Amino acid sequence: MAKQSERKCSFCDRTEDEVNILFTGLKGNICDQCIENAHHLLQEATGDAQKNKGQSFDPKQHKIYKPREIKAFLDQYVIGQDDAKKVMSVAMYNHYKRLMQPKQDEVEIEKSNIIMVGETGTGKTLLAKTIAKLLQVPFAIVDATVFTEAGYVGEDVESILSRLLQSCNFDVAAAERGIVYIDEIDKIGRKSDNPSITRDVSGEGVQQAMLKLLEGAEVLVPPQGGRKHPEQKMVKVNTQNILFICGGAFEGIDKMIARRVQTSSIGYNAIKATKELDRANLLQYVNAQDLRTFGLIPELLGRLPIVTYLNPLDPAALKRILTEPKNALIKQYTKLFEYENIKLEVENAALEYMVEKAVQFKLGGRGLRAICEMILTDAMFDLPSEQNSGTFHLTLEYAKQMLEGSKLDYLKAA
Ligand code: ADP
Repeated sequence: MAKQSERKCSFCDRTEDEVNILFTGLKGNICDQCIENAHHLLQEATGDAQKNKGQSFDPKQHKIYKPREIKAFLDQYVIGQDDAKKVMSVAMYNHYKRLMQPKQDEVEIEKSNIIMVGETGTGKTLLAKTIAKLLQVPFAIVDATVFTEAGYVGEDVESILSRLLQSCNFDVAAAERGIVYIDEIDKIGRKSDNPSITRDVSGEGVQQAMLKLLEGAEVLVPPQGGRKHPEQKMVKVNTQNILFICGGAFEGIDKMIARRVQTSSIGYNAIKATKELDRANLLQYVNAQDLRTFGLIPELLGRLPIVTYLNPLDPAALKRILTEPKNALIKQYTKLFEYENIKLEVENAALEYMVEKAVQFKLGGRGLRAICEMILTDAMFDLPSEQNSGTFHLTLEYAKQMLEGSKLDYLKAA
């Protein structure tokens, strides 16, 4: 039993030992957790957050970008991927129209949640991030693989919304118009080919749990996410206007697509259809049926009505990624060198060598960053102390020396 003199929180009655910090007032005490809960309550009660709740979107307060404008913005950051950009631009524009729709309209425009299929490092996350930047809405990236069906080890799907809330400082109304990018959606495919007596809690179970979020519902969200804070007060979030963009590599789906297009092209016009098929990039023909074969359940696919794809990046695209986008890697390094009053000049042959290595590593655009880092780390380490002006020429020989050197080091370490 607690001693009479033991200090306790006057709100939750927990003793000093049971809380992290106990603040003492003139006539009572309060613990850190109660302060946090009170803070959320206060935000809910007074914040601008709740002012607009339930009202339709006010176009006067937001610039509505036309699809062409959205695509032009994406072009500044993302190389290639024209089909995906077009599909996304239209989806975003329609999303705005949906937000502006009067509540009493008979024809209800459905949500344009999107699913993107494309190899790793081809720009799926970048596209979603760039869209969010343009629209200036809260944006969160989550990884589908960390979720499990409620009650099992792992995170509940509701914590997807915790991340969104955290990204906008718990402004519920802002979060309710945000964008969530769910990565690795392909990893929660149904594992039905592998019958098991245990439940498929990280596959189909998660897909089922996600349905409610995707279609639009009032969801109780643990603001701190996870299950580490069982005492936290849940925040109610309406997902009706939250846009969900899912992405995944769907490795092996090209074979499923090939099978489908082959069977559907038997018969009338078969020869013509097969001839025109671009076998090198079958992803462009992806549709919901293929995703279903892959293991996504039809109910989930029904709530992700827009399916688009990203092309694998060829050497020409990789080279453009290095130099063209607004925040291209080479531009970033040039800036870093500029701060040291050093001009960075990169030889074309060095650029081509980096691209060649990125193709070898099969990491798409993501590999380029690692390659640049390996090549330029020594220079960035030495130059600030050795030289305070001039030009640094990144030649093919230097790039080779650095990259091969780093690999040798790796081999030695192994
Ligand atoms: P994923 O398709 O796996 O989501 P990302 O969008 O995260 O790939 O890409 C990883 C990185 O590679 C990006 O941050 C960007 O630097 C670069 N990148 C990949 N694809 C492109 C692209 N199409 N245009 C510009 N940069 C790209």
